[in-house]
Amino acid sequence: MKFSKILMASAMLASMMLASCGNGEGEQSNPAGASTSSVKASSSKSSSSKFVAQWSKDPTLHVEPTCESEGKDVERCINSSAANKETILPKKAHTWGAKSEKVTAEGKSGYWTNECSVCHTKAIIIDALNWTKIEGSNKDNTGATLKFSTNGNYAEYEFNMPTALTNVTVGIYGWVDYWKDGSNNNDQRGFFSTKANDGSANVGVKINDTDLTITNHKTYEEMGMSAGENGNSTFALCEMGTIASIAAGDFKLTYTRLESYNLNITEIWLMYK
Ligand SMILES: [Zn+2]
Repeated sequence: MKFSKILMASAMLASMMLASCGNGEGEQSNPAGASTSSVKASSSKSSSSKFVAQWSKDPTLHVEPTCESEGKDVERCINSSAANKETILPKKAHTWGAKSEKVTAEGKSGYWTNECSVCHTKAIIIDALNWTKIEGSNKDNTGATLKFSTNGNYAEYEFNMPTALTNVTVGIYGWVDYWKDGSNNNDQRGFFSTKANDGSANVGVKINDTDLTITNHKTYEEMGMSAGENGNSTFALCEMGTIASIAAGDFKLTYTRLESYNLNITEIWLMYK
């Protein structure tokens, strides 16, 4: 009760002080439909000398995120000429449909295709367990995922790329070992969190013998791998980086464990328009 009186008094004081805080520009109008955030009351003793800015989300400047681009929220100060505050809203996930029938050929890796129903980004999805060559061994002997035993192990995937692709985002689909007791919290690591902590990546991808530059520095949790059951995180599609072009015809992708924290993968995605 006492607090609400202070709050009201402060709000009145704040509005009375507009003339001295507006830098001659006067009060910025509150856009239609905007809801004002509550005034943060300072103590009644000092409120006579303090100006409290009131921020309001401006729906006319809000940009909704899509699966192709980030969005933003914009807050305007409604009682001073302070610069707008912007909050970036992360991209939404694509809305994938059902995978195609698997495309297979003798001696080649199998893959599926898919398409986002919203932005029509397409995907070629390589079956990570369908390598044409493996160096080292798969730690996961259940046949469910690919998890290399040691650093330097790699798998190669080859097939006939049906068409040339440009601006291709490469991602892996899988999960990391995750123990809730904190003994193996791989969800807090990412593509770059090597034990040596030297800034190099845990895994590497080569496409037609060209290294993919991995640009994603998020943790696996930030990429969607949250705590799951039995020491496994949930599955997530983790975007690694983008390669400018992939030619039609003979295609080869090499996936290598460099210093992996028990990354278990089932698919490698190539996403393009
Ligand atoms: Zn999309």
